[in-house]
Amino acid sequence: MTREARNTEKKKNPKTIARRGLMFVLSSPSGAGKTTLSRLLLRADPNVALSVSVTTRAKRRGEINGRDYHFIDLARFQMMVKSGELLEWAEVFGHCYGTPRRPVERALRAGRDVLFDIDWQGTQQLREKARDDLVSVFILPPTAKELERRLHTRAQDSHDIIRTRMAKAAGEMSHWPEYDYVIVNSDIDLAFAEVRAILAAERLKRERQIGLSTFVRGLQAKL
Ligand code: 5GP
Repeated sequence: MTREARNTEKKKNPKTIARRGLMFVLSSPSGAGKTTLSRLLLRADPNVALSVSVTTRAKRRGEINGRDYHFIDLARFQMMVKSGELLEWAEVFGHCYGTPRRPVERALRAGRDVLFDIDWQGTQQLREKARDDLVSVFILPPTAKELERRLHTRAQDSHDIIRTRMAKAAGEMSHWPEYDYVIVNSDIDLAFAEVRAILAAERLKRERQIGLSTFVRGLQAKL
């Protein structure tokens, strides 16, 4: 949302209460629907900004540098780790992935929520660093067969890579107890409604609404 649109929104709804943004993590084994859910959320909710990760893996067909990932080489990645530019990082499927720190901090300060499509290792690191800001959701596929079908339909990866991903899915899935919420994605519309319900409720948590006492004082003064 542009600044102008946000101001118009505030004028239309003067009750808007200042709020600190939250870190909204969606994790799942590849093929469980996390990328589709992320796209739907970004399209539907202008107050959510995507954290674009850096990665050393090769660009897939259809991916755009700067939109899906910042594609960088290993030397640059190692430099970013060393200089503390990454909020978290991990090795996944033999490649390095990490979250640039600065865009996240900027968005949170501006009261925007940040969406992360990261694995369980990254989620653990964020939990250690920013427990109060973190809301984590784990997405499960309804069946193993459906997970395999989705990986094949996506067809961006070779058969070998798909086999590796299937084999690793079981291990990744074992991390579900570390998440705040778990969604079984058997129907994308329902799963999306559940994602939005979680976000709506978490935004209303009292401790996130930093403008509440000012708001209530304003109400009291007029009574
Ligand atoms: P893909 O290569 O399929 O885009 O992603 C592979 C895995 O890496 C996914 O589980 C994805 O969530 C995870 N991933 C992507 N970016 C990051 C990141 O910045 N940090 C961590 N820890 N995992 C990431």
